[in-house]
Formats: sequence, C-alpha cells, structure tokens
Amino acid sequence: MTLSITVVGGGLAGLTAAIACAEGGARVTLHEAHHTLGGRARSTTGPYVANDGTHVFYSDGERYRWLDRRGLTRPSAGIPLRKLATARFRHRGALTGRPPRALVRGIMGRGRTAPVEQDFGTWATREFGEEAMRAVSGLMGVVTYEADPGRLSAAFVWERLRRVTAPRYPAVRYVIGGWGALVDRMAARARELGVRVETGARVDRLPEGPVIVATSLDAARGLLGDDGLRWESGRAALLDLGLRAEGRDPFLVSDLDEGGFAEQYSAPDPSLAPAGHRLFQLQMPARREEPGRDTLARLEALADLGLPGWRERVTWRRDAIAHHRTGALDLPGRTWRDRPAVDRGEGVWLAGDMVAAPGLLGEVSIASALTAAHAFLGRRSTVRAA
Ligand SMILES: Cc1cc2nc3c(=O)[nH]c(=O)nc-3n(C[C@H](O)[C@H](O)[C@H](O)COP(=O)(O)OP(=O)(O)OC[C@H]3O[C@@H](n4cnc5c(N)ncnc54)[C@H](O)[C@@H]3O)c2cc1C
Repeated sequence: MTLSITVVGGGLAGLTAAIACAEGGARVTLHEAHHTLGGRARSTTGPYVANDGTHVFYSDGERYRWLDRRGLTRPSAGIPLRKLATARFRHRGALTGRPPRALVRGIMGRGRTAPVEQDFGTWATREFGEEAMRAVSGLMGVVTYEADPGRLSAAFVWERLRRVTAPRYPAVRYVIGGWGALVDRMAARARELGVRVETGARVDRLPEGPVIVATSLDAARGLLGDDGLRWESGRAALLDLGLRAEGRDPFLVSDLDEGGFAEQYSAPDPSLAPAGHRLFQLQMPARREEPGRDTLARLEALADLGLPGWRERVTWRRDAIAHHRTGALDLPGRTWRDRPAVDRGEGVWLAGDMVAAPGLLGEVSIASALTAAHAFLGRRSTVRAA
C-alpha cells in the first residue's frame, strides 16, 4: 500500500523531507504558505541576486553531500583563492590584512576539546587568554549571529570554530546563481518524484494523518499548540549592497571587535551582479536590548571602514533585522540533543533549524528533515495512511 504524508513548509527542511519521503515511495503533498518556495533560502531575482538567508554551505558536511549526490548543489564554486589575499580583519578598531596573533593563537588550539557545561568565555579565556577568546568570539559572529558568543556553550562555539577553520579549509561552497537556484532544483526534483506542491497554501490546523511540520519553530509552536517549542536564536542587522566596481574591494571583512562580517558574493559568482558591479552582503549581531537602528549604524560603520567610498557607489541596497531566524544557539549545559525533539509521537515530526539535529545553521534543517523522513518511512507498517 502506498502511504501518504503531508509536509508543511517549503523551505530547505520541507523540500528535503518531501524529496526523501518520495524517494522512499510515499505519496507526498507539500503546503507552502508563501507564493514561492525556499523560505529563508530564497534569493532576490535581480539585477542583484542576494540571498535572503542561507549564503554558504560547508562541503565537509554530510548534509551537503546529501544534496550533492542528487546534483542539487551544482554548479557551485569555492572561495576564489586569489581573492583571499584581499581579506581583511577589524581588530582593535583598525583594519589588518593578516589574522591577528590573538586569533591565530585560538585557531592553533583547535585540536582541544571544549566542555558542554562551561560557557565559551570562561573556558577560552583560561585556555588561550582573554584577547584570543575575544578574537575567536568576533570571528564566530559570522556563524552564530550572536554579539556575545562567550555566553554560549564552549562546545557549541568550538565545534563551529573547527568547522569554519577545518583542515580541508576552505570547505565553503557557493551555489552559482544564488540559493534560489538550489531551491528551484530541489522543487524540480520533488515534482519529478511526484510530490504535489501547493504554494500560497497556509496551513492553519495540523493536518490529519502523518505530517512533517517543517516551518520555523515559532510557527510550529502555533500549529502543534505546544508552548514548549522554544529555543535560543540570534538577532542581527543585515545590509546588502550593490556597488559600482571601483578600485580593489576586499573579498571579505571579518570584524573581530564586534562580530560583524562583510563578503563580496559576486567574487566567487559574478552572475550575482550586473557587469561592472559588485554584490556585498553584510551582517552585524545585535547587542542585548540594542535598538535595530543602532546595530545597523554599527554595520554601516564597518562598511565605512572596509569598503571605502561605498556610499557614493551604491546602486542598490536593502537592510533588515533578522530576529530569531538565524539558527539555533546552545547555552552552557545544552547540546542539540536537548532541543525540541523531531519525533512528536502519533505520526507527527518536526523539521527545521531549531530542533534536535546536528549541524551548522541550515544543515540542521536538512538533518532533521532526513531524520523525520526516515522515521516515517521506517514506521510505514505502523503509521495510519491519510
Ligand atoms: C541572514 C541569514 C543568514 C544565514 N546564513 C546561512 C548560511 O550561510 N548557511 C546556512 O547553512 N544557513 C544560513 N542561514 C540559516 C538558513 O537560512 C536556515 O537555517 C534555513 O534556510 C531554514 O530552512 P527551513 O526550511 O528550516 O525554514 P524556513 O526557510 O523558514 O522555511 C519554513 C517555510 O515554512 C513556511 N510556513 C510557515 N508556516 C506555514 C504554515 N502555517 N503553512 C504553510 N507553510 C508555512 C514558510 O513560509 C517557509 O517557507 C541563514 C539565515 C539567515 C536569516
């Protein structure tokens, strides 16, 4: 008997779950509230193609390999190595072309094991000294969207440091054409497998029968009527800039003082900007209780320092505050295993980037979606057909 399942949400998690269930022989219907698929992995349509959320994936992860085996990541590009020489670090208020000694001291200790129970600030200060702890915290702003990674679990921050500086560095991959292109390929794959995709179809009540709820955790809380579905996440100002190409802009600016980050995405993929122009995407984690306009002002100050003359060269810009949308953060004493469980019982599963699955940022969405799909397929003899 062919079993049916409903997937709510058409972002990376929902599309992954739909593909995996359909590959396992299930009849799948996917409901997406928005008129287009992709959720936070959407991109603008041009002339500047800017990613809304997901920017890069690390090719050393199992989740990337799952996408890659299906040809969904291709074409993609790695870091343009000749541009890496133009990378800059903000350290003690000044820009430098070389990683400061304090940062190198922290990175060189990457072989150590960090404890789950202790906060990163206390552990790293003891291991490497306060200056190195602060420099590593600043570097980690790019993957935590947290102004004070020192308050997070040491193991959580350290795992991310190890991924970002992995021995097979640089493992970073950029999807050519932006993440919207990957979403289009995932949607095509899902449809090819017979998935019924309904867009503009917000689900207001938990559907009957087996269901994978692949929305944000906030939306899942409402759908499941479970107030306990909560986890920590970051808040950050985002600034996307289309600039006329003039002079030599850096490929990236890592702000070790405040956790900000700027990257020239049109360097690995020139198709993201019109000829003679460059696309930058910048981010700055917000301090506790800091008004969004102040965080944005600090981000513009980083642009002033790292991208000289940008205000005169702007041909496109957008800014936003990302609140609780940048993935899970684990506090001391907690790991991904303590997050809301994927299996909610009675044929209901959760997938997304704030649930109990391993990985970095969007990898958690894919990992949890695969766990949910495999649990559904594994239980096919016991789940009720819709
Ligand atoms: C600024 C920023 C930068 C990021 N950078 C990276 C990065 O570089 N690398 C990385 O791996 N990750 C990154 N992330 C995280 C990554 O974007 C997310 O983890 C991932 O896209 C989440 O996918 P998802 O499918 O779990 O959730 P979403 O993308 O939020 O998808 C959920 C979908 O469910 C739909 N939905 C919600 N409620 C309903 C309902 N009631 N009925 C029907 N549909 C519903 C929504 O419309 C949405 O399309 C970044 C995120 C942000 C915000």
